[in-house]
Amino acid sequence: MKAMDGEHGENDQTEARLLRAAQAAMAMSYSPYSHYPVGAALLLADGRIVSGANIENAAYPVSLCAERAAVAVALAAGQREFAAIAVASRGTPPAPPCGACRQVLSEFNPVLPVLVTGESGPAVARYTLDELLPWSFGPQHLEREHAASGPA
Ligand SMILES: [Zn+2]
Repeated sequence: MKAMDGEHGENDQTEARLLRAAQAAMAMSYSPYSHYPVGAALLLADGRIVSGANIENAAYPVSLCAERAAVAVALAAGQREFAAIAVASRGTPPAPPCGACRQVLSEFNPVLPVLVTGESGPAVARYTLDELLPWSFGPQHLEREHAASGPA
């Protein structure tokens, strides 16, 4: 993962901080139906971290994943540049982002580093978003005209 690779301890500290933020966010989960709390923490390009937790609803389909909750927090703060995301959940193995979240995250950084972790401890899996969502649909597909096909 490019954003946090390197031999410097600062990167390890940033990763540890991101993982802890995702794990702490699990406590904010509203998951009375699944009893499956998930926390997510987004590392913003400016070094700040915002987090979110899953939000369930009695009308199940309108529930919101932790990752998209974190994205909403970031955008509400005016931040759209993401450097990495950590996702924390129970179980073996802990869950990677679902398809809907992969799509939403891809809108902002198609090669976002994704760390997956449990309720505590280090990352148990590392991906980049383009590994999790290859050949994704993106803003480029909505462009109506390309420079090459402009007016003669
Ligand atoms: Zn999701």
